[in-house]
Amino acid sequence: MNFSRKIPVGISQCAMGDAVRFNGGHKHSKVCTELLGQCFDYVPLCPEVAIGMGVPRKPIHLLVEKDGAPVDAVRVIGVDDASVDVTAPLRDYADSVVPELQKVRGYIFMQNSPSCGLRGVRRYLANGHGIDSEGVGVFARRLQQQFPHLPMEEVGRLNNNELRENFLTRVFAYDAWFRYVESGDTGDAVAQDADNNVDISGADKRPGISGRPLSFLARVIEFYTAYKYLLMAHHQDKTRALGKVLADAKSMSEAELAFEVRGRIMDILSRPASRKDKTNALMHSAGHLSEFLDKREKAELKELIEDYRVGHKPLSAVLTLLRHYLPRSPHSFIHSQVLLAAEPAELGLCDFN
Ligand code: SF4
Repeated sequence: MNFSRKIPVGISQCAMGDAVRFNGGHKHSKVCTELLGQCFDYVPLCPEVAIGMGVPRKPIHLLVEKDGAPVDAVRVIGVDDASVDVTAPLRDYADSVVPELQKVRGYIFMQNSPSCGLRGVRRYLANGHGIDSEGVGVFARRLQQQFPHLPMEEVGRLNNNELRENFLTRVFAYDAWFRYVESGDTGDAVAQDADNNVDISGADKRPGISGRPLSFLARVIEFYTAYKYLLMAHHQDKTRALGKVLADAKSMSEAELAFEVRGRIMDILSRPASRKDKTNALMHSAGHLSEFLDKREKAELKELIEDYRVGHKPLSAVLTLLRHYLPRSPHSFIHSQVLLAAEPAELGLCDFN
């Protein structure tokens, strides 16, 4: 599959195959470079090398004072020499790369690292005893705080097909949000907004997801509408709650609305879509087309969705048939549904050995 436009994504540099680890080695991930590299344009960073620790270097780990300490109550110290404390340099480095990372639409971190680990990093007491695995790498944690809605995942978890599909879905949505809602730029229009500044003034109309010039609020609503069935496939209650937020959107400032809606969309998508909820969203989609189908076609579509629900047919089979019937409908709502667009599996991004 050739992607005409690659999405900028940050990544722990050792996952790219660069020998930057403390022991002089790397942790090359073929899933990241060979598979996801087809659609991601990577920004590789190694915070420990960047702060001058060198390669090879003495190992470091997370230190806490007691069991159950809050995630930010950690220090990153030398395993063999507790006087080595790189907590502040790692946090400062994360702050320093924020401008460079404004353009990324996802971040892939190396697991189990006191700098880059996103979850479950081992924490130690001053006596060297491991106390729990509740830590988050200090660099990763700082970037979580700086970019609270940025899709993030660990290298190892991307070997799992479902987790990889979910990460791709979130990255594609986050990228689309900044292309069509907050910045409003689409491809060629980037040059007009070289700093990628967020224009939420609403004063000037920009192209939304449909390509039509729209005000900021109209772009938000159009985006939500296009994502509605995909969001429903991930979390129906939260999708309905987001719809209510949008109904009251006029009482919110544009900045508040941008933060609120972006956050809710990324939260909903972070929950993997279940087959049951996807089936429900497919049924809704089929309902929009039923008036344009004859009896046999309706029955065939219904049977195919049921086959998908029980695991006998892949999602792509249902999507293919829905897309086949799509031109019969004159209604823009169903044509705009991202759920019916190419899913990661159809882009060849899910099966990898
Ligand atoms: S995990 Fe992070 S700090 Fe460690 S080698 Fe990889 S990129 Fe560098």
